Amino acid sequence: MRDVLLVRYGEVFLKGANRPYFLRMLTENVRKAVKPVGGHVWLSDARIYVSDFSDLQDCIARVTRVFGVHSVSPAVEMEKDLDAISEVCIRMMKDYSGTFKVFGRRSDKSFPMNSMEIGREIGGRVLESNPNLRVDVHKPVHRLNVEIRDNAYVCVEEIPAVGGMPMGTGGKAALLLSGGIDSPVAGFQLMKRGVRCCAIHFQSPPYTGELARDKVMTLAKELSAYCGGMRVYLVPFTKCQLEIHEKCPDGLGTLITRRFMMRIAEKIAKKYGAQALITGESLGQVASQTMEALVCTDAVVGMPVFRPLIGLDKTEIMDIAEKIGTYATSILPYEDCCTVFTPRHPVTKPKLDTMPDAERRLDIDALVDEAVENTEVEWVE
Ligand code: ATP
Ligand code: MG
Repeated sequence: MRDVLLVRYGEVFLKGANRPYFLRMLTENVRKAVKPVGGHVWLSDARIYVSDFSDLQDCIARVTRVFGVHSVSPAVEMEKDLDAISEVCIRMMKDYSGTFKVFGRRSDKSFPMNSMEIGREIGGRVLESNPNLRVDVHKPVHRLNVEIRDNAYVCVEEIPAVGGMPMGTGGKAALLLSGGIDSPVAGFQLMKRGVRCCAIHFQSPPYTGELARDKVMTLAKELSAYCGGMRVYLVPFTKCQLEIHEKCPDGLGTLITRRFMMRIAEKIAKKYGAQALITGESLGQVASQTMEALVCTDAVVGMPVFRPLIGLDKTEIMDIAEKIGTYATSILPYEDCCTVFTPRHPVTKPKLDTMPDAERRLDIDALVDEAVENTEVEWVE
C-alpha cells in the first residue's frame, strides 16, 4: 500500500490518432515538473500516476501547474482485496460529512465484483463507519472513487489544475514581454495552449534602469513555473527611440516605436524558430491599441500576431495576473521604455498610408539590424 497522486488530463482526450503523442508529451512534462520532489511518474491505462514524492503538497502544487492536466487526486494504491480497499475507504472518509457516493470502476474484469457491486458494498461499509455521511446517488457532495486496474486505487479529493494543452505541442512563439500587467498574462494564455515561448524585452538605458530589467527577468521566471524555463532576449532600444523622437511626428511616436518593436521582434522570433508573435494588447486600452493603430502595427510584420487579451477588460486581465502569480511583480514601479518618450497627444486613428512618410527620415533596416545584432540572450528557469 502506498500514496500516489492520480493525474487526470482534459482536452488531450479529444485527440484522435494523435493522442499517444500528446500523452507522451504530457507525461514527460509532469515528470520534469516533479523532479525536484523526486517523484516517479508513469502512464498506465489512460491515467498518469506519480509516486515516491518527498512532499505531497509540493508535488500537487507542481503538477497542477502543468498544462494539459485537468485535475489531480491524492490516492492510495493497494492490492485488489475488498477488505483492504474498504478499510482505506473508511479511513479516507472518516472526517467527511454530508452526502457521498462510491463510484466503482473495474477495468480488470477478473475482479469478482462488477462496478455496481463494488459501489454498493463499499458504500455500505463506509456508511456504517461514519454516521455523518448519507448516500446521494444523484448529486453527491463527495465522490469516492474506487478503481480496480492493475492495482486498486482509491481517492476522494479532486483538486483542479490549470488545464490547456501540453507544453510543446502548440509550436513556438515569441512573447513581447514588457514589465506591465498585460504581457505576462498574454504569454500565459498561449503557453496554456501548448505554445513554447521565448520572451523579447526592449530596454532603453539609461532611461530604463537595472531594476526595470530585473523586474522583467522576475516575470519571466514566474512564467517559467508553467513552462520549465524560457529564453529572454534583451534588445537595446535606446537608439531607435531617440531617432524616432527626433525624426518623426510627435503624435505618431508611440505607434512608430511599436512598429519598430514588431520588426525587431519578428527577426528575433525567426532566429528562435518561432512562427508567431504574442503581445498583451487589448482593444482600446491606449492610443496605440485602437483598431487603426493595430492595423498600422501589424502591417510591418509577416508573421501572425496573437493578442489573446484583445477582448478582455483591464480588471479581467488583473484577475488572471493575480491567479497566475505575476501581478505583484507587474505593479512594481520601474519605468518601462515606452513611458519615457510618450507623446502628449498621441494620434488615435492613424492612417496606414501615412506611415511611410512619417518614418521616411529613419534608416529602418539599419536600426533594426543593429538592435538585433546587439541583443543579449539569457536563460531563466
Ligand atoms: P501595461 O503596462 O498596461 O500592463 P503593456 O505594457 O502590456 O500594458 P503597452 O505598453 O501598451 O501595454 O504595450 C503593449 C504591448 O507591447 C505589451 O503588452 C507588450 O506585449 C509589448 N511591449 C510594450 N513594451 C514592451 C517592452 N519594453 N518590451 C517588450 N514588449 C513590450
Ligand atoms: Mg507598458
